[in-house]
Amino acid sequence: MPAGAGVATSGYPSLDEVRGSPGYPSRERMAKGAVAVIECVQEIPCNPCEAACPRGAVKVGQPITNLPALDGEKCIGCGLCLARCPGLAIFLLDMTYSDTEAALSFPHEYLPLPEPGATVTAVDRAGQPVCRAKVLKVANPARNDRTPVITIAIPKEFAESVRGIARKSGGGDVGR
Ligand code: SF4
Ligand code: SF4
Repeated sequence: MPAGAGVATSGYPSLDEVRGSPGYPSRERMAKGAVAVIECVQEIPCNPCEAACPRGAVKVGQPITNLPALDGEKCIGCGLCLARCPGLAIFLLDMTYSDTEAALSFPHEYLPLPEPGATVTAVDRAGQPVCRAKVLKVANPARNDRTPVITIAIPKEFAESVRGIARKSGGGDVGR
């Protein structure tokens, strides 16, 4: 599948498409613990992810339309890059959260925010329900500039398909 084909035809990237992109970590790296998962598959002029990483684990370089490349061995899973991506295309995946569950962090710009401990509906890249999830953390520090980052626990089998949670009715965005 050519780069961008999934986004171009459906509005969201396919799993094959993101797996084939340079920002997607290897299975071996995922198995070691928390790591950034960069699902940026369109060649757009953008690079805040590169500047956001204190470890030099993300490279866009020149031209600025290069797809971001992740060096999984340099990534320490700090999550600082998630809220910096204007495309909301970066996630943090920890396959070592427990024997049966993975922890997934993602940007979520909709109100109302869920409460830690709540059970929510996890959705895939298309916004379709996948499974139930437990909210582990809701982080919204000033440095995130109104992009809250939510962390959920999900069954490991859904770790590469879940990429967010269903919005609650009656909510709006966070004013960006
Ligand atoms: S999670 Fe942290 S170390 Fe990894 S790419 Fe993002 S900013 Fe860099
Ligand atoms: S900041 Fe986000 S949208 Fe921009 S290049 Fe990086 S991953 Fe892609």
